[in-house]
Parts: sequence; structure tokens; C-alpha cells
Amino acid sequence: MNLSFLGACKEVGRSGILVDTGTEKFVLDYGVKIGEKPTLYPKKVNVKLDGIFLSHAHLDHVGALPVLYKHDQKCKTYGIDITKQLTRMLLKDSLKIARSENQPLMFSEKDISIALKHFRSVDYKKTFNIGKTKIIFLDAGHIPGSAMILLENNGKRLLYTGDFNLSDTRFLKGANLEDLDNIDTVIIESTYSDREHPQRKKEELRFIDSINSTLANDGVAIVASFAIARAQEIMFILDDFDIKYPVYVDGMAEKATDIINRHPELQKEYNKLEKTMERLNIKYIEHASQRKKIIKKPCVVITTGGMLSGGPVVWYIKKLHDKIESSIFLTGFQIPNTEGDILLQTGRYIHENLELSVKMNINSYDFSAHASHSELLKTIKKINPYQVFCIHGDKTQKFADELRQNGFAAEAAELKNYELL
Ligand SMILES: [Zn+2]
Ligand SMILES: [Zn+2]
Repeated sequence: MNLSFLGACKEVGRSGILVDTGTEKFVLDYGVKIGEKPTLYPKKVNVKLDGIFLSHAHLDHVGALPVLYKHDQKCKTYGIDITKQLTRMLLKDSLKIARSENQPLMFSEKDISIALKHFRSVDYKKTFNIGKTKIIFLDAGHIPGSAMILLENNGKRLLYTGDFNLSDTRFLKGANLEDLDNIDTVIIESTYSDREHPQRKKEELRFIDSINSTLANDGVAIVASFAIARAQEIMFILDDFDIKYPVYVDGMAEKATDIINRHPELQKEYNKLEKTMERLNIKYIEHASQRKKIIKKPCVVITTGGMLSGGPVVWYIKKLHDKIESSIFLTGFQIPNTEGDILLQTGRYIHENLELSVKMNINSYDFSAHASHSELLKTIKKINPYQVFCIHGDKTQKFADELRQNGFAAEAAELKNYELL
């Protein structure tokens, strides 16, 4: 078996791996790198593929999928069913953003529908075959539909973790390592390979304290959130702490929530999201004109984008940036150089032609859906593979060095070809 890394080497973004089993050729994920202008793409695929496997619907994993079909691939794309609907939503939104920012477009609306016509849904834990390769998707606990992908060919077993989380969140069950045995090679994400997460309970209390004090001061709490999994996790927290003020959802988080509600079986507790939303009496913002009205009174608005690089959150920051009683809450990993990252570093919001000094409270929380440093290490020790490739992180070299000290043949993957041991 041969591997060729097409992106996500010593960086987070543009995930893509070409696997040549000797009998078939596959691509694992094909995403983009956001935070860079123009958007960066993975290396081109110049061979005819037998299958494309999607670990989950985040743009850094699926954002370049239509490009493969534009370049005449005819094979099917496989993923958990919800990944198709979420991917369609994300790809359409990325086109909209590219157009509004006058960024070059690598694919069209039509290319998106051609790509998704080739999508075939697979179930967790159900083995299927393509040629001489056996494939199985296992729940990765990162977002609804996220999967680790295990390939077996000629007795060799290769595991691609995608993005994964070992810990349960309120919304999702963590990945289960028990299903992983006799693995020869692991390609592992390393987003948090140099950090631990703060204790979740403490982080939630800190979050709720700031929400409550914002509301008590007659302020508006803008919770900037990723549309998929994070926005819904925030709803669970607000519900559990019994927030009595109006809670609104704005932007792509609405559509993502609707898609997720159609797949109640993917939640840790069956259909908990719908019940939570009823209790919180969540209202969607259907028209931009509603926004002006709601921010006149204290309320919570859960809105996209999670890194402040687009979506309705931009409008709220424009309107509220000088209101000291209001707050902006960042609830996820901020990729370096994104608007959210720059706001945290400088207190300034810089977006397109806009540059604002932000007077509202800026709060940042780690509600991560990625394995922490100790969980990544635990994963490798438990699986005990012959060979490890570290990808999807800024510190993959450091993590690979640490794994080597622990006796594993590990390396920080580079944009090149590797023969498996
Ligand atoms: Zn992800
Ligand atoms: Zn990712």
C-alpha cells in the first residue's frame, strides 16, 4: 500500500490523502483551507479513482470534493448519510461567500450537484467492498456523521481517524476505541496534540456566568458558533442552566439544526435536540429585518460563522461592537489569521473593508470536539500500530517526536508519497 498526502501536512486545512492499495485507488477527504485568501486546495489528483471516502462534513474535509468530479472522476463518494446533506449546505454556502468576496471559484453550483449525485450512504460498522479492499466506517464522535475509516487490503489494515473526539459531549457520544484492533498503520489528526482541554464543566460554568451577567446588564449575548454540532451543544448548555431570556438562532446554524433533527439516531440521547429546542422556545431569524428588533432587548443569539469570517455574526458585530453591556462569545477553535483569531489577539475586528475597535466583551471558550493531547496519545497506545502519520495540526512534528519517544514509528506527514511498512 502507498499513501500520498495532498494536504493537511503540518497545518489544519485541505485534508486529502490518496491511497493506492495496489489493486484500487482511493481518496480520503478532499477539503479546503479556510482562513487563507484565496482559499487553498489540496494537491491535484491525476489518477483514476475507485472511490472517495468522506470522514465528515466540515469544509476542511469536503470543501474541494466537486473539483474531483470536475476533473472527470467517475467513481462514487461514500459517507454516512447526513454527511451528504451537510456537505451540500456547506458547499453552497462556500460558493456564496466566494462570490460575495470576489474570490476565484474552483467549481460551480452544477459541479456540486454532479459530485453529490455520486454520493452513496454507508452505515457505521457495516463492512463493504470495493474491488479487493474492505472498508468500514466507525463513529468518530466529532460531529453527527463523523467517521473513522478503516481500509483492509491483502491483510494490511489502514486506519484514517478523520477528526475525532474520545469524550462524550452533551450532544454526541465519543469514539469507541474498542472496535480498533490489528491496525498496521494509523493516520491521525493532531489538532490539539500540544494541549489539554480545560475541564468541560468548569468551562460551561464560566460560559453561563458571562451569559447571565450580559443579560442582567441588559446586553445582547452573541454566541458565534460553528453551524454543525457546536450550535446544538450550546443549546443543550443554555437549556441545562435554565436560561430564561429569549434564545434565537441565526444563519447557517438554522439549516444545520434542521438537517440534524432529521437524524435523531445520531444523537447521544435519541431526539434530544428537538425536545431541548422546544423547552428553550428557540426562534429562528427568518429575515434580516428581525435582527434590528431583537437586539433592542436582552437575548442570546447563536449564530454563524464560528470564526467570524462571514455569516450574520458580521452584522451583529457591526451593530453591537461599541456596546459595553453586550458580549461576543467565541466557542470553538480559531484557525490562525481568521477574523476570530485576530479579534482575540488584538481586540480589533477586521473583515473585508471593515476595521472596528470592539468594546463589547470578548469571551472565548474551549468546547472542542477534538481529542486532547492525552487522548491522542492514549489512542495510539491502545491501537498500537506499526506506523503512524500525524496530520491536521500545527505541531505534527512535535507530536510525531513524542510518539517516537514512546516507541512508535511515527512521522509528521509531508506532501509526498510514502510506502507503508
Ligand atoms: Zn472537523
Ligand atoms: Zn478538520
